[in-house]
Amino acid sequence: MTVAETLNSRQRHIVTIAANTAVGNLAQLKHELNGGLDAGLTVNEIKEILVQMYAYAGFPRSLQGINTFIEVLNQRKAKEISDAVGKSASPITDTTNKYERGKKILETLTKQPETNTKKGYAAFCSEIDVFLKEHLFADIFERDVLSYADRELATISALSAMEGVEPMLQGHIKIGKNVGITETQLSEVKPLIEKSKHGIFPKGTMKGSADRFSGTVWVETLVAPKEMENLYAVGNVTFEPRARTHWHTHPAGQVLLVMEGKGFYQEKGKPARPLVKGDVVAIPKDIEHWHGAAPDSAFVHVAISNNKDGNAVTWLTPVTDEEYNRVSK
Ligand code: MN
Repeated sequence: MTVAETLNSRQRHIVTIAANTAVGNLAQLKHELNGGLDAGLTVNEIKEILVQMYAYAGFPRSLQGINTFIEVLNQRKAKEISDAVGKSASPITDTTNKYERGKKILETLTKQPETNTKKGYAAFCSEIDVFLKEHLFADIFERDVLSYADRELATISALSAMEGVEPMLQGHIKIGKNVGITETQLSEVKPLIEKSKHGIFPKGTMKGSADRFSGTVWVETLVAPKEMENLYAVGNVTFEPRARTHWHTHPAGQVLLVMEGKGFYQEKGKPARPLVKGDVVAIPKDIEHWHGAAPDSAFVHVAISNNKDGNAVTWLTPVTDEEYNRVSK
């Protein structure tokens, strides 16, 4: 392993699954679980991540993660996707003192000898020291479904996503390096978590196509095209700064609900309307317009597009930089 080694797709999903479980972002977790299975994580490996999360984020978060995973697996089964179950944990045959076993694993992880003199929380509250060693570092870490590196990656991700746990995060970053997670991989964790954060609806993983949008745009379908008669589709659209639609018209109009960030709506020949969270735009039919992000902010809106004879939009030319700069400066 080299210092520059980056996270592979399987590891990237360990990061986002752990982080979204830890903070209870269940809609996004669904996406990350699907992505993780597609990236080659087995069902048992994901179960193991979700179980481990209970030690860091508590039973409620862990159980909700597991419930979400059950839902995802059922949906995939219905679509006839068959997922690899993977190997189960080998039975634990070691019958020596569990506290000592946990202590030894902790020493392996930290590369520091555990002294017999307890201090800090362990001295003040000896039960938690016992629970930590026997339960977390023996019961959980002895299970061989995940490597120490995978487990630490999950922990670092969970702690990065949570508030107010900085000392534990720093401790686990040290352990992570000891078990082979590279500096480069560690530096990728926070941005990956940021990227998987979202507002009310998931950001999705589908990029808006270049013949409809300028810049980077993510489109998440909330109501699929033609599921209903008068409604064409509902989508959550995330524009990175400066990203925007091409000029276009809607044969039956469109409603935009602004969820996050700053952006613009402009009808041809009119001044642009600045938009912020909570704004609603009712776009009349056949009016040429564009919408998109401000230069210094991402922008998220839900787009509700009406249906006319199976169509919802006619795409026209890109909004040029000159046109964009005129309204955005
Ligand atoms: Mn539109």
